[in-house]
This record gives sequence, C-alpha cells and structure tokens, in this order.
Amino acid sequence: MPFYGRQNSERNVSMNLKYTSPRVFFPKSISEALERNRSEADAVFWAGGTHLSRYTENKTVISLPKNVISLGMVEELARASRSEHSLEIGSMMTLDRLAAIGRNTLPAGLYDAIIRIGSRPMRCRATIGGHLAVKDKIGDLRPLLQLLETTVETRSLKERHGRRKALSLTRKFPIALLEGKPGLGGGELICRISIPTESWDYGTYKKIIPTEDEERFFIFTALARVEKEVLTDLRMAFSDGYTGVLRDRDVEVGMAGRPLRLNTKELESLDDAVDTITEPWEKRDYEKETAKRLVRSFMNHISR
Ligand SMILES: Cc1cc2nc3c(=O)[nH]c(=O)nc-3n(C[C@H](O)[C@H](O)[C@H](O)COP(=O)(O)OP(=O)(O)OC[C@H]3O[C@@H](n4cnc5c(N)ncnc54)[C@H](O)[C@@H]3O)c2cc1C
Repeated sequence: MPFYGRQNSERNVSMNLKYTSPRVFFPKSISEALERNRSEADAVFWAGGTHLSRYTENKTVISLPKNVISLGMVEELARASRSEHSLEIGSMMTLDRLAAIGRNTLPAGLYDAIIRIGSRPMRCRATIGGHLAVKDKIGDLRPLLQLLETTVETRSLKERHGRRKALSLTRKFPIALLEGKPGLGGGELICRISIPTESWDYGTYKKIIPTEDEERFFIFTALARVEKEVLTDLRMAFSDGYTGVLRDRDVEVGMAGRPLRLNTKELESLDDAVDTITEPWEKRDYEKETAKRLVRSFMNHISR
C-alpha cells in the first residue's frame, strides 16, 4: 500500500516549534482501512480533513495527526443510492454533493441546513461522515438528521484472544447514539448513512447567530404533518452545538392530534415546554426567548 514517508522534522527557531509531516496511508477498501487502523494504533481516519487540519487555538500552526488513514480512495464509501424509503449515502459524500441532490429531493429543511454550513469550497471538502464523527462539537446537520431518524452503519475490527485475525463487526444505529457514551468507538468507521425520505408537509431549519461571535449560535429545526387542519405529527429539536441535541418526545406526542390553529392556552404551554427543553442553556435568555418565538412562528406557518 503506498504511503508518503514522514519527512524530516524542521525546527522553526523563531517560534521554537517542531513541525512533522504526517504519514499518510491510502487504503482502497474498507477492510484495508480497518486493518491499517489496527496496525497503526494512533492513526486517525481522514475524510475531507476540514476538522483535522484546523489551526491550533492560538492560530499559529495547523496541528496534524502523526498517522493519517485517508479515506479518499475507498470507492465503497463514495457510493450513494436512493431506495423507495431512504437515501443511502456513503460517508465520503461531500456536503456539496449532498446539497446537489436538490432542495426538492432532499427531506424538508435539509438543503437549507447544508448550504448554511461554512463556504462552498469548504463544503466541497467536508464529508457527511466527518461531519457526524466530529466529537467535540455537534454539527449543524445533526438535529435535523436526528428528527428524520437517520441511521449510520459502521464497521470495526474486534481483537480475539489468541487469534491473529480480528473479528469484523458491523453496527447500525440511530445517529442520536453518536452523542454521549459509548458513541462512536475508537477505530469504528462510519460507512453508510441512511436518511429516511418519508414525506413531511412542513420542515424548517433556522440558525440564529445573535452576536458577531460565530461560536455563539443556536439551531431550531422542526417537521410537521397536517391533515385537514389537524396537526398529526410534530418533531422539533434545538442545538447550540455543544449541549446536546435538545428534544422532548413526550411534548411532540402530546401535540399530535391538536386542531390548528392552537389556542392561547396551548401556545403558552408550548412556551413552557420550550423553556424546559432549553434548560441546559441556563441563563442565555436571548436564546431561550428566541427559541419560543421561532416555535410560535412555525406553528403559525403550519396553521395557514
Ligand atoms: C471554515 C470552516 C467552517 C465551518 N463551518 C461550519 C458550520 O457552519 N456548521 C457546522 O456544523 N460545521 C462547520 N464546520 C465544521 C465542518 O462541518 C466539519 O469540519 C466537517 O464536516 C468535517 O468533515 P471532514 O470530512 O472534513 O472531516 P475530517 O476533518 O476528515 O474528520 C473529522 C473527524 O471525523 C473522523 N472521521 C472522518 N470520517 C470518518 C468516518 N467515515 N468514520 C469515522 N470517523 C471519521 C476523523 O478521524 C476526525 O476525527 C466548519 C469547518 C470549517 C473548517
């Protein structure tokens, strides 16, 4: 398997920093990628590299991992297809290619969510697998993909005592389980993402950035089905990128079957519910108040 050898490290005298180029491996299949990960204990999967090649906190150097397993030549991970009920997407599909599927073919709200992420050149590199695998932040697509009941299929290798060959494991689980523990295991490779395409009458995605600080934001996303002026199904979630995807299934179930438009009492109890759902945001009053306004505005929209 070809790889670029580690180059001589340079010494930057003025900054007193040592730069070392990473060793890069180019597997051609999922099995090869997993085997390489097994043999190089500290290696990391490299998809678009937009997260991995970010600057250090003081913005002086890009801190790269020592051993990189590039997924760019694994053809199996770049495949995509559409079945009757879902979009089946290889984890190496870039966000730009995903958006190119089109606003009308993608589930409600997803196109708007994708094109608000970074810039187009960045979306041409960033992949859906990398977006979901980033651990220190919740990607903007996660809340909506969660409402759509998206699942991921992963592959990994498990060592077997006394055996040379490791056991190949496949897991399929809802993306909500990427959050918290156990989450995505070390060496576990996201291979496929399955996004259900069942139809929703209404879908919304809003990203609010209240100040110039791009790191302070929140997302509200919701889906609804309405039949003969009755709300038959509602799903809604909030995220500030850090404190989890906030959602309450009981509130959603409690709203189903209500005639539209909602009366004042129902809207007030929905306000209270949003207050409770967004409790992890603590004293961020602007975000909490805006969240309530966005929910009311969505309810207003679906009542027309
Ligand atoms: C300029 C800029 C602007 C951005 N703006 C936004 C924004 O507005 N909203 C937002 O949500 N995000 C934003 N991001 C973050 C961006 O969404 C992520 O960096 C990107 O989606 C990661 O995808 P990638 O393919 O580049 O992942 P990589 O950087 O290659 O990898 C990211 C992590 O995932 C792991 N990984 C990658 N693929 C897999 C896989 N298949 N299986 C298991 N692990 C894997 C890697 O080992 C690594 O730990 C921005 C990033 C940049 C650089």
